[in-house]
Amino acid sequence: MTSAIPPRRARELASHVESWFDPGRRELPWRRHYDPYHVWVSEVMAQQTRLEVAVPYFRRFVARFPDLATLAVASLDEVLALWSGLGYYRRARMLHEGARTVMESGGALPSDVESLRAVPGIGRYTAGAIASIAFDRPAPVVDGNVTRVAARLETMEDPNGSGALQRRLWSWAGDLVAASSSPRALNQGLMELGAFVCRPRKPRCGDCPVRRFCGARRAGDPEAWPRPKPAKASVAMVVPLYLVRDGERILFIRSAGDALMAGMAHLPHGTRDLFAGSRADRFRPLERLGSIRHTITQRRVEFEVWTATLREVAAEGSGEELWLTREELTRVAHPSYVRKALALAGDRG
Ligand code: SF4
Repeated sequence: MTSAIPPRRARELASHVESWFDPGRRELPWRRHYDPYHVWVSEVMAQQTRLEVAVPYFRRFVARFPDLATLAVASLDEVLALWSGLGYYRRARMLHEGARTVMESGGALPSDVESLRAVPGIGRYTAGAIASIAFDRPAPVVDGNVTRVAARLETMEDPNGSGALQRRLWSWAGDLVAASSSPRALNQGLMELGAFVCRPRKPRCGDCPVRRFCGARRAGDPEAWPRPKPAKASVAMVVPLYLVRDGERILFIRSAGDALMAGMAHLPHGTRDLFAGSRADRFRPLERLGSIRHTITQRRVEFEVWTATLREVAAEGSGEELWLTREELTRVAHPSYVRKALALAGDRG
């Protein structure tokens, strides 16, 4: 593959970003020792979650699972319970499965990208982050922050999210890390540059260590990069939710498999559009308590919360039933819309 950046420019860019990076600017717990397991957990948590939000979850997670061996023998339920509130629960399931796989093959997280990518749940980005940040290997990373910095520096014209832009970005990041003297400092520096200086809105170009190399700044309109992708419409849905009580206990359904939010305790749904675990014909709605709005990936969902009773029909095809008090629910992984619905129900639920 031809170089994305002329070698001299790559060396200069890398060296400016590395010298600018200061690990003390943001006190992050995994930066203390760069323990590979900690770096892995932090990278998985930080995907789709802001770092400030992820930090307390990270502390609780590694306090309970201090190393790969402890995580590998933990129950998935406990792992998901500690993940509750972070969303995108597939990440937690894959991390757990990945920990088991690593323990089965000797217990050491590999340091090279190819072997890391063979671990379940570790994709191109996470492999690059672990190899470079934990092991200081010259492996590229491309995330949203790196995308913004690179697209602006090089005025890349392909739309954000396109395959063409992705190829260019990975090649660019590969050239830069190959020219760097500390992949750990370079990659973290690029990500921090995107987070604090080369921000989506109002980039602080005057404080930028690579401003003299920047095409978007020269063009006078840095915010115009990366070029926007065509908007993807989100889907609006209305989903009835049923609160079925037996004394203090409430009925929850848990489905297996790899579907959206599988393995978690859900309130029964009145349609199967969102969650395959409950059969609508089993429930007789009684009183509509109100509705809550919730966004799940591309779906904007309005949940209508109903009190309901069970009909005398076979439960075949439903997920596992759990009858839990509100207290017991706190120890079982459940999505945040469940908490919203129970809060809406108040004492009437
Ligand atoms: Fe981003 Fe401005 Fe720096 Fe260019 S000069 S990389 S637009 S902060």
